[in-house]
Amino acid sequence: MLTRRLLLAAGAASFAAPAAAQVVTALGPEAARLTILSDGSFEMPLAMLARDVPAGLIAAESGATEPYRTVLNVTCLRRGAELILFDCGAGAHFLPGSGRLQESLQAAGIAPDAVTHVLFTHLHPDHFWGSLDEFDSPLFPNARWLVASREIDFWTAPNVYGRLPADRHAFAAGAQRIAKGLGDKLERQEAGREWLPGIAAVETAGHTPGHVSFALDLAGQQVMVLGDALTHPRISFAHPDWRPVSDHDPDAAVATRRSLIDRLSSERSTVIGYHLPGAAGRVEKSGSAYRFAGI
Ligand SMILES: [Zn+2]
Repeated sequence: MLTRRLLLAAGAASFAAPAAAQVVTALGPEAARLTILSDGSFEMPLAMLARDVPAGLIAAESGATEPYRTVLNVTCLRRGAELILFDCGAGAHFLPGSGRLQESLQAAGIAPDAVTHVLFTHLHPDHFWGSLDEFDSPLFPNARWLVASREIDFWTAPNVYGRLPADRHAFAAGAQRIAKGLGDKLERQEAGREWLPGIAAVETAGHTPGHVSFALDLAGQQVMVLGDALTHPRISFAHPDWRPVSDHDPDAAVATRRSLIDRLSSERSTVIGYHLPGAAGRVEKSGSAYRFAGI
């Protein structure tokens, strides 16, 4: 019988290009191993990095050229029988260069059947649209899919279009399509609680209304999977008060960045950024200034 899975396996064997190095980095012991997988990257205008800041200053402070290319890092935690993904990539219908998670999983030797949980930081396209496969079925057939109530309620509310600028309506339509595809596999959770033993969802609203980051202990080292609470390796840390265009509530996002970088530097946490090159690093403080230092 020709099943969907056989079709996928045949396609992968016949047509897939040799996998490039898709594992960004890995941390922790075998018993609790974090592997960061690439979902590719996409381009955006430099002006997206900050509203109301002159273009020349954005270019100088970001160290980037036009257009800015941002990376996408999906975090995978393997502990015992659990294989937990944090966010799910952009899928095939977002921007060119993104949607490479399935190749990266293959490169890392991770079978879709083995994934037990997907925990979402938020439901923007580059984090959520990769949840369905080419047949619009959940990419990981055995997984539980966990999302903050506030986040799923925002994106699926009948009045969401009235609360978004017109250029973000596609985000809502996409979120609703993916949520429908996941159906009752998508479980609501509350921010500020442990969603799985030892993995707490920290409320980091602002980028989206229900955005959360995930705090966990990795063999004695505090780790924070940031999602998009901190998105640029220079600007988010040196200028937390600058307002990226992609933040839904700019004031809340500024307050979140300020408290988060203060907490993370004092706790000496390892941070994993979905859009930070190299993914893993620490927040260092010198005087009143902060910076991201990759590890
Ligand atoms: Zn993002």
